[in-house]
Amino acid sequence: MYRSLSEDGSRSGEDAGRSLDELLHGLEAGEAAAAEQLAVLDRRERESLLESAAGLHATMRAVEALAGDDAATGSLAALLLGYLQDGKTSVRTRRARRFVQADVLSSLQRALIARLSTAISPATDALVDLFVVVANKDPKTQFKVRVGGLLQALCQMIIDNRSPLSERLLRLLARSVRSPRNAQLAGRKRDLSKALMQRSADSRHSSAMARHLEVLYLIAKNKKTRGLMLSNGAAGRLVGMLDRLAPTLEDADSPAEATLLIVGLLKLFANSRRGKEEVLSAGMVSACEKCLDALETAVDKRGDKTAATQLQDALCSLCVRCVPAEKFPLAGQSSPLSFTLPRTRTRTLSSKGGEKRATTSYARAEDGGRSSGKRRERRLGHGRRCARAEGRRNTSDMPQLSKYAKFFAELEHGAISKDRTAKKKSIGGSAAPTVSTQPQPIQYAQAILNQTQSTRSIQRWVKVAYPELVGPDRELPLQPLVFSTNAMRLVASKASKKGLEKGKDAFKSRIVYSLDACAEGRDGGAQENGRLGNEDKMRLGKLDARCDHLLFESRFESGNLRAAIQTDKTHYELILQPEANQARDHFQWFYFEISNCDANVEYTFEIVNCLKTSSMFVHGMQPVAFSVGEAAAGRPGWVRVGHSICYYRNQYVIDADVAGHRKDRFFSLRFTFALRHKGDVCYLAYHFPYTYSMLRASLECWTARSSSSIYVRRDEIGQSLAGNPLPLVTITGAGSSAEEVAGRDTVVFSARVHPGETNASWIMQGILEYLLTCDDAIAREARERLVFKCIPMLNPDGVLAGNHRCSLAGHDLNRVWDSPSRSLHPEIFHAKAIVQAACETRRPLLFIDLHGHSRRSNCFLYGNNPDQSWRAADVVSSPTFEFVDTAEIMEVVAPAFSARNCRWSIARSKEGSARVALWRQLGLQRAYTMECTYAGFESGPYKGYQIGISELKEIGRNLVHTALTLSKRDEDTRSRVIDR
Ligand SMILES: [Zn+2]
Repeated sequence: MYRSLSEDGSRSGEDAGRSLDELLHGLEAGEAAAAEQLAVLDRRERESLLESAAGLHATMRAVEALAGDDAATGSLAALLLGYLQDGKTSVRTRRARRFVQADVLSSLQRALIARLSTAISPATDALVDLFVVVANKDPKTQFKVRVGGLLQALCQMIIDNRSPLSERLLRLLARSVRSPRNAQLAGRKRDLSKALMQRSADSRHSSAMARHLEVLYLIAKNKKTRGLMLSNGAAGRLVGMLDRLAPTLEDADSPAEATLLIVGLLKLFANSRRGKEEVLSAGMVSACEKCLDALETAVDKRGDKTAATQLQDALCSLCVRCVPAEKFPLAGQSSPLSFTLPRTRTRTLSSKGGEKRATTSYARAEDGGRSSGKRRERRLGHGRRCARAEGRRNTSDMPQLSKYAKFFAELEHGAISKDRTAKKKSIGGSAAPTVSTQPQPIQYAQAILNQTQSTRSIQRWVKVAYPELVGPDRELPLQPLVFSTNAMRLVASKASKKGLEKGKDAFKSRIVYSLDACAEGRDGGAQENGRLGNEDKMRLGKLDARCDHLLFESRFESGNLRAAIQTDKTHYELILQPEANQARDHFQWFYFEISNCDANVEYTFEIVNCLKTSSMFVHGMQPVAFSVGEAAAGRPGWVRVGHSICYYRNQYVIDADVAGHRKDRFFSLRFTFALRHKGDVCYLAYHFPYTYSMLRASLECWTARSSSSIYVRRDEIGQSLAGNPLPLVTITGAGSSAEEVAGRDTVVFSARVHPGETNASWIMQGILEYLLTCDDAIAREARERLVFKCIPMLNPDGVLAGNHRCSLAGHDLNRVWDSPSRSLHPEIFHAKAIVQAACETRRPLLFIDLHGHSRRSNCFLYGNNPDQSWRAADVVSSPTFEFVDTAEIMEVVAPAFSARNCRWSIARSKEGSARVALWRQLGLQRAYTMECTYAGFESGPYKGYQIGISELKEIGRNLVHTALTLSKRDEDTRSRVIDR
């Protein structure tokens, strides 16, 4: 019937046209022969047919009409899948986009529903594969499967149990109930959970069992569904399943995934008191013990311990979860540190309470008598006085760009010579380049002591931390990732022991360090007016005979320990200080000092108010320590320490009467380690600390040291909320005229918008040190071709206070770039103005904001692909893919970098981030967030190792190299265009 089309090219165009019409007509009418014909068409002809709107429409009609036909469905699904998956990225992207626009998903859904009523065959699976590929691109998938009926049809099939669902269909169902709305809808279907449990118990293969349990787990995330499931006796049945599975866990081919899902479900049930009771009375503890014993044998038997360890940890944390809840130690107490926010024009502060509170002398001085309303919530022991988002949408805050021209003095006067005398005044303080004079040698130690005196912090410090004083920039050998296999079992057995020993002569907990008490002046020691210094070396080897516990201290820059509670002879529970004015809690970063310790005694530390649900501490990461004793013995530096490391949800809760919050559960990070020297003083931190004073002292030393061939200018572009200067460092090759400088590409690097992400500062250290002190060919060429504008610390106040995420305004400053308020977010207001002012002359070649990522390995980029934007209007007709260049180059030059980990999507929630705002508002194609792990590497030459200072600094040097390569590549492209 359509024969002429498939014959060789001798036929006339008229014939072909007519045959094509016939083919379309046949497809439209749902003729199986037409589908066959389409399958045997020449690839290019078929593609051009699918490119046309009529062709695609007809094909989809055929898919629907022929849904009952196995052969036709199989072949149509395969050829459409091939069409979507063949070709270059840009071609595939364009095709997928067309499919979404044409709502192919709805046609596929109808076809799939039609097939479900007939027998399930390989053709159904082919259709499911195609459906999933299209669904991955269609942002409305979850909505469509809900209203289109596929979700209901799949659920009904499980309930009816006419024929078992294939694993692909079960995966599709699991995917569909990932959306909370869909999970809720499925959960309300009577008998679904019962049926799922029955099917999983009946499953002959462990993977089929796991697929049913996965769906069950996802719908059980809904609280109400969970209640219904409990009433149906789900807890008892699940514990029964766990008990039956226990003996099989010894096998090499054990149902680990299914067991893990059962444990996950039981953990969900244990979230409520009733659930906890039912899980316990069903015999969960003995079932868990059986499993753990079996796993112990399995771990011994097997080479690969990861799956067994993961399951072991999950079982233990289920046991811990069922321990009776305890009240969080400091619940209800307001934070000892606070900061009063400036008033903004648009701000309407709540005056509830009306009580003025200014704990520190600094806050009092700044407050200037303006009263600030005490915020509603008193959560987790801190009164929150945040300005919320009032200032954020104040679009009248527009910078006067002419005021920022002085920070581009090299464009006016040329990079005549390095300017060592730039003033440290903010706006107006930028000096014109002067003739270089012989630099005075500057001692780092003296520089940091001076810097620490002049910073403004909301906390009263008692010392300069030893690592900062002696300079922590020491490159030590790589340390491997460390996995603890026994840690969670220790926790579980301790928890159950604690439950048993209640009331017996257990150790009586006591507070051994309290910032609250220090702030109220009950515990002296603060040097009111004296200069800050450090006497750690003098304290070495001395033990305080009056106290039989460790001593803690965190009143130094970036320190943030609020309390230490001794709960056993060598066990300490630690509580981190909340961020001033925070609207949401962020406890992750920690930095404190311990002393009065014995040699070779295993001390266990447990930070009990962590909030993230998972952590890299269970993926081989260790905390870092700097021992003063080791430094005195000639081995200074931050090293990874600790064993038996684990991370789990603990027993602490905040009472419901401390209202106004969502999160009321905490996670513990627990690690154990011993010191080599008796009476040592040791600093412990989440990651290699990097303070504001250290940055300023390092800049001072490098600037003084750098050669006269380097043009460097240090400016202060403004002040932070607390009045700390915001540094900007300009670096380029010296000895160039203004015209020459104007011809150079600008590269902007920024870091530490999130204060806890100290790895970002170490990368910045790599960039600055390389550009300012190194004279290899790449550094020289980079300076000669490029002008570097580095804003090394976007949030100095947060860094000083030991915050993890926010500024003193309590806002995440990487969410305000779209419209920063001059009064509430001066840090971002000025930084953005610098980029805006740079754009006045020439759009920067590259902008990278440096960050740390707490849940992933390696180093990678987030960029902006308009095609993957939440806004349909962003989609451009011919994407340039310019944003991929940087990742391609980094992949080649940087051993720590992983292009595979990069993401290019633009989510609605990221509109206020630097990379999206600068791309959207200023048209920067190469605007990125660079993320770097705190933990280590899962690929590349450093695979299996934890990241260290050397690797971080190397990333900085690699970034300079990448910027240079980009600039050269762009010039090549430009000259090729001109040649043509
Ligand atoms: Zn960050």
